[in-house]
Amino acid sequence: MKLNAYMQLAHYAAHDEHSRGRRYQENKPAYRSEFQRDRDRIVHSTGFRRLMYKTQVFVNQEGDLYRTRLTHSLEVAQIARTIARALNLNETLTEAICLAHDLGHTPFGHAGQDALNECMREYGGFEHNLQSLRIVDELEERYAEFNGLNLSFETREGILKHCSLKNARLLGDVGERFIKREQPSLEAQVANLADEIAYNNHDLDDGLRAGLISLEDAKESPVFNAQYISVMQKYPTLSGRRLVSEVIRRMIDQVVTDMVDTSRQAIAQAAPESIDAVRQADKPLIQLSAEMQEQHIALKRFLRERVYRHYRVLRMTNKAHQVVESLFTKFMQAPELMPPEHQQAATRLQQELGDAGRARAVADYIAGMTDRYAVLEHERIFDPAKRS
Ligand code: MG
Repeated sequence: MKLNAYMQLAHYAAHDEHSRGRRYQENKPAYRSEFQRDRDRIVHSTGFRRLMYKTQVFVNQEGDLYRTRLTHSLEVAQIARTIARALNLNETLTEAICLAHDLGHTPFGHAGQDALNECMREYGGFEHNLQSLRIVDELEERYAEFNGLNLSFETREGILKHCSLKNARLLGDVGERFIKREQPSLEAQVANLADEIAYNNHDLDDGLRAGLISLEDAKESPVFNAQYISVMQKYPTLSGRRLVSEVIRRMIDQVVTDMVDTSRQAIAQAAPESIDAVRQADKPLIQLSAEMQEQHIALKRFLRERVYRHYRVLRMTNKAHQVVESLFTKFMQAPELMPPEHQQAATRLQQELGDAGRARAVADYIAGMTDRYAVLEHERIFDPAKRS
């Protein structure tokens, strides 16, 4: 059914022939669209491979079955592609944004990000969204002619989900929308909401798997409970992992369906003539219904209280904080302890920007670490019994 409709891009979608282009001009790819090229560059990047060993909520060593940043990014892409396709948006651009959206995350999830942000307070702060952009614009070293991956404007626009006004002013074209209070493309809006849908559901799943919460606890969440009741009505003897998976699968299906239906209506009502009209709309057109939005917020609250603040998670985040903070302090004092390429970056940025430049080079080095690399580096620097 409607196979042709799937392939037809809406006129307000991002069309690669109307892209605002790349920072460095390049020849058109022979067999791919511009956004396919972006997606492929992201998949081949070093930053992407590092996501495999970066924490989402549970530190990598805790078990092999928990989400990492990599599997999280793949789940976000899967959810977002479904939605993009259903709304006749550019699926490939959506996928590229999703795969790149967490490239700038530090080791140890949000604990690492908070710690690094505190360390960087006097030097311009640390925002992981901005760092994702910095990776694709500056830090990847793969091409002869430019730093970074030289992605299209539309992919970079989607990667920069949030940004302070102060930083927006320094960013040129991709920063402008934060100053003008405009929206990003619909593809970026889909990626943004799909991110929340993915982590809400998989953090609940991982929380159950880790035993931080029980099935009884999860039933306190109304969205979980509603699906739980309908699964039990149909399959009264179902239990264990299969029961949890069946409930969460239905939760995702319900929220995705709501998002497609609600957004379709909002788009029809606003009737944007082009992607620029989407950008100028006073609010995002990709939305959840009011009822679903409320449930979504309740689930977030439940996770914050019962999973993210569980003492076992807090013990882990406490350690993460210490590792990041002590590495930062030490490398700031003694940049010569960093590997040569990071020392060189520190010297170069110190010359350009003073101490804030040196701090940025240290933050780049730490943010790029995987969980296990950060732990190992901490031992090499501070444990006299370890080889340096
Ligand atoms: Mg994410």
